[in-house]
Amino acid sequence: MFDGAPSTPTPTHSPATTASLTPVPITVAEGDGIGPEIMEATLRVLEAAGAALAVERIEIGARRYLAGASAGIDPASWDSLRRTRVFLKAPISTPQGGGYKSLNVTARKTLGLFANVRPCVAYHPFVETRHPGMDVVIVRENEEDTYGGIEHRQTAEVTQCLKLISRPGCERIVRYAFDYARRSGRQKVTCMTKDNIMKITDGLFHQVFAEIGAEYPEIEQEHRIIDIGAARLATRPEDFDVIVTPNLYGDIISDIAAELAGSIGLAGSANIGRECAMFEAIHGSAPDIAGQGLANPSGLLLAAVMMLVHIDQAEVAGRVHNAWLRTLEDGIHTPDVHRPGKSRRRVGTRDFASAVIDRLGSEPRHLRPVNYRAPSLPEAPATSAAPAPAIAVRRPVKELRGVDVFVEWDERGRDPAALARLLALAEVPPLRLSLITNRGVKVHPGGFPETSCTDHWRCRFVADGELPLSPAEIIALLRMLHDLRVDVIKTENLYAFDGERGYSLGQGE
Ligand code: NAD
Repeated sequence: MFDGAPSTPTPTHSPATTASLTPVPITVAEGDGIGPEIMEATLRVLEAAGAALAVERIEIGARRYLAGASAGIDPASWDSLRRTRVFLKAPISTPQGGGYKSLNVTARKTLGLFANVRPCVAYHPFVETRHPGMDVVIVRENEEDTYGGIEHRQTAEVTQCLKLISRPGCERIVRYAFDYARRSGRQKVTCMTKDNIMKITDGLFHQVFAEIGAEYPEIEQEHRIIDIGAARLATRPEDFDVIVTPNLYGDIISDIAAELAGSIGLAGSANIGRECAMFEAIHGSAPDIAGQGLANPSGLLLAAVMMLVHIDQAEVAGRVHNAWLRTLEDGIHTPDVHRPGKSRRRVGTRDFASAVIDRLGSEPRHLRPVNYRAPSLPEAPATSAAPAPAIAVRRPVKELRGVDVFVEWDERGRDPAALARLLALAEVPPLRLSLITNRGVKVHPGGFPETSCTDHWRCRFVADGELPLSPAEIIALLRMLHDLRVDVIKTENLYAFDGERGYSLGQGE
């Protein structure tokens, strides 16, 4: 086995194929539940296939959580990850409650893993699926969006979660998706956003998709609104090839896609960063079958295949993948995919791995064999901790035009006209009250009595007269509001960039 004490690299060569390959250090964590079983099976296959790896082992998961590591990993283990920059990770069990943090989210953020790549492939007729032709790769942005976890309770009734979408973040993931498509010979990239509603945040993602897409004219490209896009993915997945999305939509549609392919237990994923990469199965630690030797190691094995491509051992990756496809075709199945009539042998984890090893060197006869000539996971730009934006090289001219003052107010029957009269007392020229909305809907001037109002009001003050406004004028307004005992919970400045409005209008404005 590629074995080693924690943090002790152990070079391993297979005489068959790796004589010329230098062992690549990787960090391995066997995780919880079925983790140790599927990791052992995976490493056995890799070794037999001739992967040149120097394995460093670390412990993560339940035992580290219970020993007091709030993210399920010891500080010293980060040293191994920083050294090897390649992490093959089995699933872990995250204890419920108690302030434990998700190791996956921590690893993604700490290691800057900006791209989540999840191939969702049907293996018809060997694994049941309603979509035999499905072969979709989801490329999900992994660091931004609502996943920054910036949330607040602002009033007695209202909470908020900040959705942050940056131009460098969009450029990085969109370029990654196009490079992935180009290098893996895929024909089309579909972008999915909700920019008919979120015109500024999702609009930026869509705009960057169009800008960067222009550099890849040979690749077909389209944009779909996420709702209809997800519906189409569920009914006609054959229409899609590579899909690129912001974080939240990607999180949701990648599980849908894996399930549609009929293979949630068979899918692996790669988390690619500027410096590091992490590879894992998409399923969890399956405590219900842990220790029984029944788990399917395929998800982790396919993640390991992606890892081999990433570390330039593409030939070994192809050998493992093709042997695995042949094993499936030969009807040698673990209980989760075993179907009487379709399967030939029902096997446990170890025997499945042995069956794959027996087939190393053979190719599938019905399913399409893989050929990883060139890395299909494009390298992330190495020096892009703060990457220069590829397109916006000049910083735009920013002009302050007004301020949205968010107010908690629960008086006078929540009558917007009464709130407007109160706020008018605070108007300090050049700022005047132009609009009040409640949950985004205009309630003043000229709202509808049918609109149900919470205790959370967005009160827009804009400059009458000469621009730009000075921040001191906003401070003067806030002082007046304070003197009037208005409960200001937050403010948001209204800017124009190069003369273009940088804030949304209220619904009905
Ligand atoms: P799960 O994916 O572990 O299990 C769901 C079902 O699928 C179970 O019936 C399980 O037996 C089956 N299953 C999963 N993987 C299988 C495999 N390889 N072979 C055969 N059957 C398999 O999801 P869960 O039960 O919701 O979560 C269990 C634990 O895993 C939780 O503690 C959760 O937090 C954790 N989890 C970890 C990760 C990760 O580390 N990446 C991901 C998801 C869930």
